Amino acid sequence: MRLGISDIDGLVHNFPRDYEVFGKPLPLFSLAPGKAGAAEGILTKEASLNFYKGMRIVNAYLSDMTGRLQLSWYNMPYIKNSLHTGVPYVFRGRVYEKNGRLLMYQPRVYAAEAYHRDYEGKLLPVYPLTRGVTNPLLQKTVREALKSRQEEEYLPEQLRKEYGLREINGALRSIHFPEDEEDLLAARRRLCFDEFFLFLLLAEGLRREREREQAEYRIKPDLRLLKFMADLPFSLTEAQQKAFREITGDMAAGHVMNRLLEGDVGSGKTIVALLAMLSVALNGCQAVLMAPTEVLARQHYDTVVRFLNQSELPVSALLLTGSMTQQQKRKAYERIRNHEADLIIGTHAVFQEQVEYHRLGLVVTDEQHRFGVAQRERLAEKGGSPHVLVMSATPIPRTLAIILYGDLDISVIDVLPSGRQQIKNCVVGPSYRNTAWKFIADEVKKGRQAYVVCPMIEKTQAGEEGDPETLSDIFQLENVQDYRKKLEQFLPDTVRTGVLHGRMSTEEKDRVMTEFKEGRIQVLITTTVVEVGVDVPNATVMMIENAERFGLAQLHQLRGRVGRGKHQSYCIMLNTSDSETARKRLDILNHSNDGFFIANQDLKLRGPGDIFGIRQSGSLEFHLADIYNDAELLQLAGKAVRKLTAADPELKEHPKLREKLQKYAETSRMSA
Ligand code: ADP
Ligand code: MG
Repeated sequence: MRLGISDIDGLVHNFPRDYEVFGKPLPLFSLAPGKAGAAEGILTKEASLNFYKGMRIVNAYLSDMTGRLQLSWYNMPYIKNSLHTGVPYVFRGRVYEKNGRLLMYQPRVYAAEAYHRDYEGKLLPVYPLTRGVTNPLLQKTVREALKSRQEEEYLPEQLRKEYGLREINGALRSIHFPEDEEDLLAARRRLCFDEFFLFLLLAEGLRREREREQAEYRIKPDLRLLKFMADLPFSLTEAQQKAFREITGDMAAGHVMNRLLEGDVGSGKTIVALLAMLSVALNGCQAVLMAPTEVLARQHYDTVVRFLNQSELPVSALLLTGSMTQQQKRKAYERIRNHEADLIIGTHAVFQEQVEYHRLGLVVTDEQHRFGVAQRERLAEKGGSPHVLVMSATPIPRTLAIILYGDLDISVIDVLPSGRQQIKNCVVGPSYRNTAWKFIADEVKKGRQAYVVCPMIEKTQAGEEGDPETLSDIFQLENVQDYRKKLEQFLPDTVRTGVLHGRMSTEEKDRVMTEFKEGRIQVLITTTVVEVGVDVPNATVMMIENAERFGLAQLHQLRGRVGRGKHQSYCIMLNTSDSETARKRLDILNHSNDGFFIANQDLKLRGPGDIFGIRQSGSLEFHLADIYNDAELLQLAGKAVRKLTAADPELKEHPKLREKLQKYAETSRMSA
């Protein structure tokens, strides 16, 4: 198996990404073309075997009191013998319309009685595709794994009762094999709660530790920085100045700074962080800036070098990324150790064991995932207690930020620099798609570039035959792979497209992003992985498929990928639903560019427990949970953590929970 899952535990925690729905069979007259469904009836005539262009086709006709449906199977001649007239059957598959008649290709066959008894109302898991492993095989393996594995309940009984949370083994069983939707929701509730709870519990422990810590370096304001600020090509906004004052205040005091710098896309966080880093350098210390990808690291490095070259400050910068050769790395390590570099900018590579800092005064992380809990721990192990600044472009509503970033103080940049050009928005229906593609082709002809965002990576493939009904089928979600083919057929041959999604390796993603940045790819078809901080000023179109399936805050982030250069930019949101709520939500975005306002509206409009809502936390890496969809659970988990640790900070009375937390800390350290 090429699962990358080495043990049973991993198998059980490889949660389904979709569920196959065994719905109630519909009367034939109500079947809708284009949708998948189940139909019940009898065959009034024997099925026939026909030959057509070298294929063997079995045809049959299903009837009920309300209508007739043609059924066709290709190259499955044996199916003819299993079909009998006069016996009730249920057929499942996608419904098509041909010459005014309804038909299903390769539907799956069930005896009606068996369907009602064993399948109806059930949900079967659909796992992320893995080469060489079929979904039915995975289902079987997971079923066995669940049987052979019992987890000891680690949540205190009292807490489970109070919050109405299911027992852990039952929850794990039901997330894979739910009895019905209600069962699935209850399982999901327990597992999401745990994700938040353990995360917050770990952060809380860290907060307690850090509170006692004294700063090793006090960073005093340096007048040379004033000159640097005066020489900038722009003046800082009020909000930027305030944030910088808060940072300076922290770093000059005796305690260790732990601050979140939160600001909308384009609000100018980088320069504030750079000022903090320069301040540290001028005090004879080193400062590190860590970005989540090579592309972003290089982007920051270039910016920093540009600013430094324009100034007379005696400060030098160095880039350190994983893709550098061993020799380049060794040289970088040496320059860091000898303090020949003051500002070190890079990816995770900056935390590698071989890196030894000299007087490390400040660590800045951009677009933080896991909020750096694990990274900060690791840094502490590197000796010293540097100040920490975490930058986030996700404008999280304050109520949630306080919980999620419970161990951090928060600075907010809530005003954009003036004089930004406005992005032109539109929300349209699917009939507008070709016009939008034409528009993209035109922009590309003018030399511009475009993004197209789809909610899925690939088509859901639940089984081998037919076209089964899954939740994402019901919502008819676009996927990156198929979309690229469709779009390539439409665009002139000269246009180069590329795809980007979360299941590509870091190197692959970086390669594609670099090609896009350098203009070798003109149209990038991508999932939401693209939302994090990428800056390609030449891109002027952001087209979002199934826009109604995304959270508003996330759409806002996506939109922030354009409007970064001198050309007019456009955001086209394709709404494929006809729901009134979807229209209202997208309308908010259509008429506002204020990320905090949008995030707050979003929170108000999204109901809790929307399982099939697209996860939109983006960089916040929870498996199942989503801070917006599950905001209520997040608050509960926050409350539970406070209550528990106030009474028993060391978890002395809950040894099983303590053990679980240790394991959790280890795994999150590993994946950081
Ligand atoms: P983000 O907060 O999204 O990381 P950046 O820091 O990348 O935003 O800033 C976006 C752009 O705005 C950069 O080109 C930066 O130089 C510019 N910028 C930052 N501050 C100001 C300001 N006060 N006035 C004008 N432009 C600014
Ligand atoms: Mg940024």
